[in-house]
Amino acid sequence: MYDFEKGRIKLIRGGRYPQCHSLFIDDGMRVLIDAASNEDVLLALKDQGPVHVLINSHAHEDHLLYNHRFESSEFWVHEKDAHAFEDVENLVDCYGEMDDTARQGWIDFLLGPCHYRARKADRLIEGGEVMELGTVRMEVVHTPGHTPGHCAFYFPQEKVLFTGDLDLVKAGPYYGDLDSSLEDTITSIERLKSYPCDVYLTGHGKGVFEGDPVYLDRYQDCIRQREAALMDYLAGAPRTLDEITDQGIIYGPKKEVGGIWDLAMSERAMMLKHLDFLRARGRVRRDGEHYVLDS
Ligand SMILES: [Zn+2]
Ligand SMILES: [Zn+2]
Repeated sequence: MYDFEKGRIKLIRGGRYPQCHSLFIDDGMRVLIDAASNEDVLLALKDQGPVHVLINSHAHEDHLLYNHRFESSEFWVHEKDAHAFEDVENLVDCYGEMDDTARQGWIDFLLGPCHYRARKADRLIEGGEVMELGTVRMEVVHTPGHTPGHCAFYFPQEKVLFTGDLDLVKAGPYYGDLDSSLEDTITSIERLKSYPCDVYLTGHGKGVFEGDPVYLDRYQDCIRQREAALMDYLAGAPRTLDEITDQGIIYGPKKEVGGIWDLAMSERAMMLKHLDFLRARGRVRRDGEHYVLDS
């Protein structure tokens, strides 16, 4: 039934987008984090007994896919992401400006295949709070960047850390939403390194890693490599944001995911965050529509 277990902490693997891996804590308080993995297994959990609390690590459709199956559970999220669960328009707003057709496409996708149902949090979770779930102790680790309210979850007794969408995948971190932050992503990855761990569990990809901070170092290094590739490209000539986006430094020539997600839009948003980051440090300046490397 589970793809990983340590004591009362269980991982349920999900498949492709819009799924992710779920974490389940089978304790006096039965807690499910990110109900977007295997629907059959998630329903089996409910058959075994009440799932008292449903937590979302953050507000993205590939983490709320089966939330609607847990309508009688208490719903807990970080306050910075809570608004995106309350109205589908708020979630689409996070994805940045798009034309009416694209926006309607997202709304249809969220309300249809992603089963988005507006939901108000019963409780707002905060970084640093420690929850006693029975025998298991769980610390909320606020790790903004991917989204403002993104949280990881640490289990000090088991030395397990669920990193959510700081997911250690080879492609590297995502910070392409309007309110994603490159700086916060770096700070959050750094923060995770301070937790002594035997195991890292992630929201996507391999799912289970030895708790060695080298995996976090490698993940963080993707950001440095993206920056280096961007600066290398600018060293050739001043470039516009369109030209930079077309380079596909992050996502290559692949242009969409799940029939809806335009990767060029994410590429553009993330490259713009890198450019802003470099400009703030005086390494790149803007000349009209062009970005110029400052030597
Ligand atoms: Zn996400
Ligand atoms: Zn995700």
